[in-house]
Amino acid sequence: MTATTTTGADLALETRRRRSIAVISHPDAGKSTLTEALALHARAITEAGAVHGKQGRDGVVSDWLEMEQKRGISITSAALQFEVDDLVINLLDTPGHADFSEDTYRVLTAVDAAVMLLDSAKGLEPQTLKLFEVCRRRGIPVITFVNKWDRPGRTALELCDELEQRIQLRPTPVTWPVGEAGNFRGLLDPVTEEVTLYRRAPGGAALAEEEHLGADAARSALPELVEEAVDSVGLLDAVDRESFLAGTTTPLLFGAALANIGVRQLLDVVGTLAPAPDDRPGLDGAPRPVDAPFSGFVFKMQAGMDTKHRDHVAFVRVCSGEFQRGMVVTHGQTRRPFATKYALSVFGRSRDTIETAYPGDVVGLVNATNLAVGDSLYDGGGPPVVFPPMPVFAPEHFVAARAADPGRSKQFRKGIAQLEQEGVVQVLVSEARGDGSPILAAVGPLQFEVATFRMEHEFNAPIRVDQLSYSIARLATPEDVQALAGRAGVEIARRADGVTLALLESVWRLRALQRDNPELSLEPLPAGT
Ligand code: GDP
Repeated sequence: MTATTTTGADLALETRRRRSIAVISHPDAGKSTLTEALALHARAITEAGAVHGKQGRDGVVSDWLEMEQKRGISITSAALQFEVDDLVINLLDTPGHADFSEDTYRVLTAVDAAVMLLDSAKGLEPQTLKLFEVCRRRGIPVITFVNKWDRPGRTALELCDELEQRIQLRPTPVTWPVGEAGNFRGLLDPVTEEVTLYRRAPGGAALAEEEHLGADAARSALPELVEEAVDSVGLLDAVDRESFLAGTTTPLLFGAALANIGVRQLLDVVGTLAPAPDDRPGLDGAPRPVDAPFSGFVFKMQAGMDTKHRDHVAFVRVCSGEFQRGMVVTHGQTRRPFATKYALSVFGRSRDTIETAYPGDVVGLVNATNLAVGDSLYDGGGPPVVFPPMPVFAPEHFVAARAADPGRSKQFRKGIAQLEQEGVVQVLVSEARGDGSPILAAVGPLQFEVATFRMEHEFNAPIRVDQLSYSIARLATPEDVQALAGRAGVEIARRADGVTLALLESVWRLRALQRDNPELSLEPLPAGT
């Protein structure tokens, strides 16, 4: 049976052709460059190609809004949507650098697959590992793209070993380099043994020229390099969709985003192997069929810093059905109607308001002051659904907060409770400080700026914050709490959900404590619970 939509679109078809993905990487691995290279293949970009050609490729556009202005493609600060052939790709942004925060992790609740981007010379880096752990825990399948193969780096087999040894992820090559990093000549297709040769244009930055060779032609053109590539790739397993979706293998590709090498192959893999949006379990465990009436959840809130224009934007991932601008939806948590009629703007393929969205798409609801991260919305006419709450992530930054004006402690408590409930910061109470001076904890320090601003302007309770020198939180058992009593450089604090944490200054402090007291458990916080 074909689900009918109000706009007459074929919902099953629209769902099947969507891929919602995010790139997980460490800063400087080339995420912005890859994003741009991926989008270059999209129709919208091709149309804007004249402008692009004139400007050349100097300078990577890291700011998506800037990219939008330059290229005329449609971007929100949360997602970029583009069409390639029959696919509609939603590429959700994972803020990095100084913007790395809970939002970076939360984006991973809204995608169906991730592209792990590695710098060929650096392999797995800390931020990549953190994001990968969240993918693994959430069962998000991961495609691996080794970037910067045009430069000297590690060997392909070394990188494969690293994936297997450090994160127990078995690489299955989709392409294999002919010539190691720095002496890169082309990409081998391990199945057909055909080779695509690349020639970089003089000057470096321009797109590489391609030449396709059949298996025999490739072997006679570059006998030694091709044989070496065929031998190496023979040591690894073939691509297998089932184990990829189960999270035990990763389709592996090599390339250079800057020269657009290997990017087409990456898009092919996203199309053929990455899953389309599917039924999503609700809080009660019952899956919400993807062809049920509209439902979605808020995975990111953007609160404007201008108090006169409270432009809260709630970014919603559509989970089922067709979203239509102006529809009245139900707020899953309160069962209250949520009127989207005037307060709604959807960013889609063009800057004009888009009227409809389908499973996997991201919708920006403007002026959504009553929504919080993790909230569910559904078509009021359909069966209700509440999706599981946003997971909580291991904080790495800590401040002690108190009301700047002791006379406003009531407003202070109310504001802090609200920020905690919205997931802006985690709130911890330590016995040493009491609840008049809670510890605010976050993945990224930007959260404290948001909290400070909102406490003053929204709750009318300005706060003072003192930075604390902790950088790690570990789970503390009652035995740990006892054993750590009176120790320097560690503080015990409790979260409202009952979890007790030990806050420590550094890994070295943690190791020293564990050396002195081997009984300590101090387990890491699971990546996203
Ligand atoms: P991000 O921080 O992950 O977004 O990384 P960027 O896309 O800004 O790239 C970081 C640097 O690496 C920039 O100087 C890019 O020009 C460079 N870069 C990105 N991809 C490649 C590549 O394929 N080859 C080379 N040689 N440099 C690259």
